[in-house]
Amino acid sequence: MDEIEPFAHFATDALHAGQEPEQWSSRAVVPLISLSSTFKQEEPGVNVLGYEYSRSGNPTRHVAEKCLAKLENGKHCMLFSSGLAATTCITQLLSQGDHLIAMDDLYGGTNRFFRQIASKNGVEASFVDATNPENVRKAIKPNTRMVWIETPTNPTMKVVDLQAVSAILKEHPDIFMVTDNTFASSYFQRPLDLGSDMVFHSVTKYLNGHSDVVMGAVVTNSDQLAERVRFLQNAMGPVPSPFDCYLMNRGLKTLHLRMQQHHKNGFAVARFLEASPRIQKVIHPGLLSHPNYEVAKKQMRGFSGIVSFCIKGGIEEAKTFLKSVKVFTLAESLGGYESLAEHPGIMTHSSVPEAQRVKLGISDSLIRLSVGIEDTEDLIADIEQALAKAIPQI
Ligand SMILES: *Cc1c(COP(=O)(O)O)cnc(C)c1O
Repeated sequence: MDEIEPFAHFATDALHAGQEPEQWSSRAVVPLISLSSTFKQEEPGVNVLGYEYSRSGNPTRHVAEKCLAKLENGKHCMLFSSGLAATTCITQLLSQGDHLIAMDDLYGGTNRFFRQIASKNGVEASFVDATNPENVRKAIKPNTRMVWIETPTNPTMKVVDLQAVSAILKEHPDIFMVTDNTFASSYFQRPLDLGSDMVFHSVTKYLNGHSDVVMGAVVTNSDQLAERVRFLQNAMGPVPSPFDCYLMNRGLKTLHLRMQQHHKNGFAVARFLEASPRIQKVIHPGLLSHPNYEVAKKQMRGFSGIVSFCIKGGIEEAKTFLKSVKVFTLAESLGGYESLAEHPGIMTHSSVPEAQRVKLGISDSLIRLSVGIEDTEDLIADIEQALAKAIPQI
């Protein structure tokens, strides 16, 4: 599983798709940041290039949307001002009285959105462990309209067989399937090819990759879904700024290189932790010990830098470890070039109800690492010294 099998033409597409210099009168090789909020019309209602107002369409945003659509092997991409803004718009495709099925282990904010916001709008959610696809089938009701899968999940790295779930949903044409592809990134996993109707990204993470933009994306091959999401993007208004689109488009240019190093470092850290006497359990989908290893091997081309583990002991050991790391930074978020470490129970997943946290294994001793692209040896040495501080008696 150490070998990466990249999708054909990925790097070339990341560099060139949607970037044609001919689209600018100056023939700029690097896309322009088009800050104008409005565009001149030839006569009322006639705008030759298709731009009228920057919320409904912006040249810099379109460059980034075209590039990301290509990287997901999709036809349409819509960018949003955050991942959760994209989630909000997708959920608006449902109506009062509709039902959705979501993976039980989810990004904390997605979980909170379904429980506390969608429910207020009369959309009811069931949370199921979709690593057994039959659980999805069992949860389907006559009013189910959406299935939301995250894989690998945050923070316990469960892997869902996307082809198996989509096969079940083929019998239900009025249900659409969304896959949160944030953790794997477009470089390692293509949910549309595996039967998902839509791909969701928190672009904030690997796609932008530099921890300086908050953004979300939806990619789909369905003209009909794209038209409805594009309507919501404009009618609800959560669009990203042209400058953020410029940064994210620039981030995509090194996505393949960054992911290769995340993959390498993530594996190295996971293997180091697996061999450490101070660790109770390591979770990385590329390890043979992972319960969904076979599915991961089948549907992913490699792995990102996310590694979760349980330190021996409890909350005190976890806190000491997190206070002792020096190359890793104690912070929320993930997917940037820099290594981060966090405590899901106290930080990213504190909004998940305690009973559900316990059930999912988000325990006091669980630590999530976003392994960055620094030198492998420095990362391992840093983990080693922090573990020794947390558990000195071994
Ligand atoms: C961060 C994240 C989100 C939410 O995206 P924002 O850009 O923070 O709004 C959704 N899903 C996953 C898996 C995430 O990591």
